[in-house]
Amino acid sequence: MIVEQALPSYNKAMRIAVFADIHANLEALEAVLDDMKKQKVTSMVCLGDIVGYNADPSACLERVRALGCQAVQGNHDYHSGNDSDLSAMNDVAKTALYWTRGQLSTEQRNYLREMPLTQTVEDFFTVVHASLAEPQRWTYVLSREAAADSFARQDHQVCFCGHTHMPFVFQETDGRVSVAKYKKFQIKSGTRYLINCGSVGQPRDGDPLAAYAIYNVYSNIVELRRVTYDMATAVSKIRAAGLPDALAKRLALGK
Ligand code: ZN
Repeated sequence: MIVEQALPSYNKAMRIAVFADIHANLEALEAVLDDMKKQKVTSMVCLGDIVGYNADPSACLERVRALGCQAVQGNHDYHSGNDSDLSAMNDVAKTALYWTRGQLSTEQRNYLREMPLTQTVEDFFTVVHASLAEPQRWTYVLSREAAADSFARQDHQVCFCGHTHMPFVFQETDGRVSVAKYKKFQIKSGTRYLINCGSVGQPRDGDPLAAYAIYNVYSNIVELRRVTYDMATAVSKIRAAGLPDALAKRLALGK
């Protein structure tokens, strides 16, 4: 069922920031939050993977919690909050997750463990970290088939996701799914959207700048923002922490 959302009349400038995959990169997070302020966003929603990979899990978690915004759990949040089996993960992710668990308090790990998998924002749109098709399986939506599986569970016209660190928009019209990169586009009636907002702390689309999206729910325009940040400091913290050097190197490559 497609739920076409009525335009909100109470706040014509409602601009919601959607951000994901911070991955303990505090410098990228601060730069993105600064940009949100300059862009005059009216609220925020976090799509998970606050921690994992980079060197500031505790500070990033507290920074996001202090925003008081809605948030959903990512796979790195799940694995950092639980003593789950990591044998299926690659060595770099696994090493960083074991390190991350040791950086967090019991209370912080409890918070990560209890995060919801999906949320509805202001009754306008849905958010999920990976895919609405069994969110806890952490499927990577990188194909039209994977997007179709998520659309099958999507009740609202718009859903935002993260997880792949690739800012793509999947569109479904009359059961047909297409995919495109985007910078700015308008939500059109009769089409459903699954929009990846990119990654704040570890972009993988070849552009090393921190990424997030702004959804203006009045004009129905979605805009991808790219933000410069103090990468040198983030890289030196990764090395000082003794985390795998591949994690330091990949930030400059954007992959
Ligand atoms: Zn991630």
